Amino acid sequence: MNVYNNYMKGALVIDVDETLLTIERISYLKIFHKNYYKQKGKHIDFFGKEHYIMPRPFVKKFLELLNKKFDLIAWSIIDSKITEEKLKILDLNKYFKRILGKDELIDNKKNLTWLSSGLKISLNDIAAIDDKPEFYDLPSSVIKISPWLPDGDIKDNELMKIINLIELKFSKVVSPELKKIENLIVA
Ligand SMILES: [Mg+2]
Repeated sequence: MNVYNNYMKGALVIDVDETLLTIERISYLKIFHKNYYKQKGKHIDFFGKEHYIMPRPFVKKFLELLNKKFDLIAWSIIDSKITEEKLKILDLNKYFKRILGKDELIDNKKNLTWLSSGLKISLNDIAAIDDKPEFYDLPSSVIKISPWLPDGDIKDNELMKIINLIELKFSKVVSPELKKIENLIVA
């Protein structure tokens, strides 16, 4: 019953930079963002330069919760290897089924139509979370989140707030009533 399983579990595309984390060179931060050291971030050497990487508050809890319900796909507009490296540093890579990047863009956009046909799922069963919905072929399938920046509020809980919107977007997929009806049809 592979088709049925695919139908019941939606795919969620999640942007990485400024949605889940932010990373900047220390030299830049010292000039422009004096409060970055209040974040629970890490000093790292990234491609030979000193950087500070800051996870958005609640990011692990957010991904843990969503990972139980959806196939998570990280998609950034830069090289996917760089994105993978950032996620690994914060131990977030384990939540993602795939990590996509600039090589998968079509006309400089994240193309959900292309992705849904590749995953063999309906466009109704795919959504995205991004601080830049304009980078998509279907902005109406994107839940917009405010960007997470180096001087962001240390009590930011935008990720937790957005969970309800995601549930709503997929309510057709996850509603228990529909599950019962689907079970009857499959039986
Ligand atoms: Mg972004």
